[in-house]
Amino acid sequence: PPGQAPQRKPIAAIEKIKYIVAVSSGKGGVGKSTTSANLALGLSALGWRVGLLDADIFGPSAPRLFGLGGQKPEVVDNRLVPLEAYGVKVMSIGFLVDEDVPMIWRGPMVVQALGQLLGEVAWGELDALVVDMPPGTGDVQLTMAQQVPLAGAVVVSTPQDLALIDARRGVAMFQRVETPILGVVENMSYFLCPHCGGRTDIFSHGGARQDAEALGVPFLGEVPLDLAIRETSDAGTPVVATDPKGKYAAVYIDLAEKV
Ligand code: ADP
Repeated sequence: PPGQAPQRKPIAAIEKIKYIVAVSSGKGGVGKSTTSANLALGLSALGWRVGLLDADIFGPSAPRLFGLGGQKPEVVDNRLVPLEAYGVKVMSIGFLVDEDVPMIWRGPMVVQALGQLLGEVAWGELDALVVDMPPGTGDVQLTMAQQVPLAGAVVVSTPQDLALIDARRGVAMFQRVETPILGVVENMSYFLCPHCGGRTDIFSHGGARQDAEALGVPFLGEVPLDLAIRETSDAGTPVVATDPKGKYAAVYIDLAEKV
């Protein structure tokens, strides 16, 4: 219940993880998974041992983002061994079910699946586990906030009003369950035309920064809307892995430093 300190049972599989960071968004399609993947790669570029847990049970995207589609994790000593890509350990429900099979599950099953992804995975020693949350404020978010010792949450939003209203709800939910908000990221913040160099604020601009200031939470940065970010994600080599010294990698590594 709101205002009550969460009761946490220690989960052995995650005991050797120093920081668990949830990446969330109020609604889908704002770039939460893209941000999670590149943030994980950014932390890895800083020399951290990093894992990524795709907790977006209904729309897992980590297998594709990390170029691991179709692969199955091994089971050793009753624990799933995370797959590895670009130095990041990855676990997703997408490795366990067929991509075309819809997940028609009720809340308790979702929570049980999440429990397995957290508790029955051989994460080993990690400096950080980035958790790509499902959009919104449902069962998974509550379970994560109540059962997992989260270092904090990063909220991703586009600059647009509608996305921001949902993002504010997300911030409020984490605050209620006493999870620190590490900050807000404005994704698709602006667009620079590759032909004329002109700038267009396709989804408006600056709304996430204003909201972060109004809510008294840190603003972590702006990520532009860019073809390279979309193409590299679709190709299974997120932009930080594709071009670790490039300008977009710098944007995400900067986010990683602030988180
Ligand atoms: P969510 O996890 O919030 O549903 P995704 O990360 O899957 O969103 O992103 C939705 C789509 O937008 C994907 O096709 C992704 O490649 C694209 N996308 C996300 N962020 C950017 C960006 N900054 N520039 C261009 N495309 C982006």
